[in-house]
This record gives sequence, C-alpha cells and structure tokens, in this order.
Amino acid sequence: MEILLYNTLTRRLEPLVAGDGRRFRMYTCGLTVYDYGHIGNYRTFVAVDVLQRFLASQGFALETVMNITDVDDKMIERARTAGHSVAEHAAIYTQAFLEDLGRLGIQPPTHLAKATDYVPQMVAWIERLVDSGHAYASDGSVYFRVASFPAYGRLSGKDLGGLQAGARVESDQYEKEEARDFVLWKAHKPGEPSWPSPWGPGRPGWHIECSVMSMTLLGESFDLHAGGTDLIFPHHENEIAQAEAVTGRPFVRGWMHVEFLLVNGEKMSKSLGNFFTLRDLLDQGYRASAVRYLLASVPYRRQLNFTLEGLQQAAAAVERLMSLRDRLRQGGLAAGEDAELAAKITAARAGYVAALADNLNTAEALAAIFELVREANIALDAGRLRAANATACEELLHLFDQVFAVLTLAEREKMEASAGLDPATIEARLRERDEARRRRDFRRADAIRAELDAAGIAIEDVKGGGSRWRRK
Ligand code: AMP
Ligand code: ZN
Repeated sequence: MEILLYNTLTRRLEPLVAGDGRRFRMYTCGLTVYDYGHIGNYRTFVAVDVLQRFLASQGFALETVMNITDVDDKMIERARTAGHSVAEHAAIYTQAFLEDLGRLGIQPPTHLAKATDYVPQMVAWIERLVDSGHAYASDGSVYFRVASFPAYGRLSGKDLGGLQAGARVESDQYEKEEARDFVLWKAHKPGEPSWPSPWGPGRPGWHIECSVMSMTLLGESFDLHAGGTDLIFPHHENEIAQAEAVTGRPFVRGWMHVEFLLVNGEKMSKSLGNFFTLRDLLDQGYRASAVRYLLASVPYRRQLNFTLEGLQQAAAAVERLMSLRDRLRQGGLAAGEDAELAAKITAARAGYVAALADNLNTAEALAAIFELVREANIALDAGRLRAANATACEELLHLFDQVFAVLTLAEREKMEASAGLDPATIEARLRERDEARRRRDFRRADAIRAELDAAGIAIEDVKGGGSRWRRK
C-alpha cells in the first residue's frame, strides 16, 4: 500500500519510500530542554509517533533520530535563574521529557541526540562552510553567507522583504555582512559554556546543531525531516542551506510540518504563558491516554484547538473502545460468524488503513473504527456477534492500537491506579464482600466496594449471586 504524505518542499502529496531501499530514515527536531514540554510540543511529537508507528505496522524498517537542544540562549538564561549549571538544568528537563514521552506512548527514537555531544562535528562542518566561501568569521563568531546559496527560501517560499539580498546593515550595529545572514558559531561570553574552535572559544548556533546531528547519524541525504510549522522558517530553511552548500546534494527529500495546537485561537507557547504541561493535566486527574487520543485525533495539518471539554470527550472515546474490548473478551459467544458483521469488520479495516495512508487522516481512520464499534455493540446487544466476529474485531482493535496506542496506555494507567492489588487480593476482598451481603451486612459490603473503587477496581454484581471485578 502506498503511503502518501504532504511534502512542504514540493507542496504535493508524495509516496513515502526508503531512499536507500532498506530503511526509512527520519529526523525530528526535539525539545529545547529549558523547561517541561507543553502539550503543543507533544502534539508535534505524537503526530510523528503516529506516522512512525503506522509505517512500522505497514512493514517499513525505520531509523529515527530526535535531538535534544541542550545549549542555547534560553537554556543559559533559565539555568542561571534556577541556580543550576546549564548541564544540570538540561539533565533535569531531559529526564522529565523522556518520562513524558513514555507516558504518552511515544516510542523512543533509534538515536536520541544531544547537541552538546556533537560539538566537534559541528565545528568541522562550519570549517567546511568557511573554506568553501559560504561562511565568514567576524569577531570570534561565524555567520552563514545567505547570498552564497541561491536556493535559499525554497522551503518556506518566504518573501524576505526588507531582509532581501543586498540589504546591507550598518557595520557599527551588526557584525554581519547582511541582515539575513545567520549565526553558525557564537563567540564566548563570560559565564556561558564554551567549546574550543579555530575562531576561539564559543558555542554552536541552534540551526547548525540539527544539520550536523542529522547528517552524522542518517547520512548526507535522507528521507524525511519533521517539526512544527514554526520551524519552517528560519530553522529548516537554514538547515537546508548549511547542509546543501557543502554537500551539493539534496539534504532531505520530504518535509513534514505539524500545525499548531491553539488555546483560544492562539498558539500554545511558553512565551504567551497559555500552556499546559502534561504534568498539569495529570495532576488535575486527566489521563495521558486521553491526552494522546486528543492530540492524535485531529489530522496533523489542521490546527487543533485545545479545550478541557475536548479532553473529556477524548477520555470518553477511549473508554468506549476499552469497554467494547472488555465485552468481546467476556466469552460465552456462539461459535462461527455473522457474515454481515464480518463484512463490516473487513470494510472498517480497509477504511482505517486507507485513511492513514492518505496523509495520516486520523479523523477518518477513527470514524471507520467508531462506526464499527457502534455496529459491534448493536450486534452484541442483539446476540448476533459470534466468536469469529469477536476475534476479527479484537484484531482490528489491535491494529488500531499499534498506531494510536491509547488502549495500551489506558490499560497501563488502570494497572497503575490499582497497583499493589493483585488479582488474588482483589478476589479475597470480593469473597469477603459476597459473604457480608449474604449476612445482609450492607454497610460492610459497601465499605469494601468503596475501598476497591478507590483503588481503581469496579465491581459488578452477577445475577443469581456473586460478583465480578474489572480494572476501571
Ligand atoms: P521547541 O522546544 O520550542 O524547539 O519546540 C519543540 C517542538 O514543538 C518543535 O517541533 C515545535 O515546532 C513544536 N511546537 C511548539 N509549540 C507548538 C504548538 N503550539 N503546537 C504544535 N507544535 C508546537
Ligand atoms: Zn531542528
């Protein structure tokens, strides 16, 4: 099956293929670890995870990189305020970032690359840019000479207006030849971390970090590069210039950009202060499975307006899927299959895969799944759903979860909520409660129910006496 994705560079839908005929190589711009990630950041990472999981489920072998920006202006400023060294500050928020990724079911990349681990390679690359006339040193810093790279602006299609070629800047205000030139190496300032270089001590600029880490790990020409739409210009434009000016070959074939998550019509961002971290939401009792569902449910090229109401609806959707799966697993179904329902399951599966293969249309993929959930519940109520239908339905839910991963997360959350209560303990408490009910000691029976409920265990009384339990 051909998987189409919108390419920002060519402005077309294009089939994804591994350029080297073996593995699909992909790079994602990760977090600047000066603080916790907010759920706008995680929208981008969930969208990339959905793509990577879908490709894997369709038989692609993947080699993926996500970087961590652990030195830049904001890092230095925030570390100073917090009274940490930059390295200490970065270590705290890198750890928190990895925890958040795990909670959101985002699979770790093949390579997690920290910028500070690649500084010598960055210095070597900047030297090549200087040697070939694409960069120049000035007062201990190094700048990219945009005029030397005529393809500049192809990705963003940006009208650089006042920053167009030839717009000279006052040399007493700027150390750059042209305003649009950008920094590759920043000269050392007191109190900042620095590394040695031919231009004196200093640190790399943000853009060169991603060019060099991606090419070091994936090769000079690879398949796909991803990030939020705010990175198209200047970050990704600059990455292309830095890479192609040296190699003379296409840096990346495809560019995937994820639209913003908004709050009240504005981009969620740390600078606007309108953000929720994942931790904020978990502390308020929301579940990561619901957050992931909400982030994944809107196709990545559409803006997503975040509301707590939307999050509650997402939680209800996950619950609906979980409860169908519970019903399918309860057993006691007649052997064989209902042919009409079997055909519907096959159609839902095809619709689901086709929607994801069409530029990751997650909304349509979910519609196909929920249409089937409705049909399956009706068939279960009517006693029409047979054992083979249950197996086929469960297989489809499994395929769904290979990409959306919300059932796996919800299951884990339930286990965590009822942690410490193993099945034997729960069953012993249930027998105690049944015993109390037989004695008509309803106070005692209710107290046990409440205790189990608080630990995330739901009890259902069974007709004719006795009871059953499940993790909520
Ligand atoms: P940063 O740490 O600011 O470099 O951001 C990390 C990633 O999150 C980048 O790919 C950004 O484009 C992305 N991002 C930041 N804010 C949002 C948002 N509100 N919605 C979607 N993606 C975002
Ligand atoms: Zn980047």
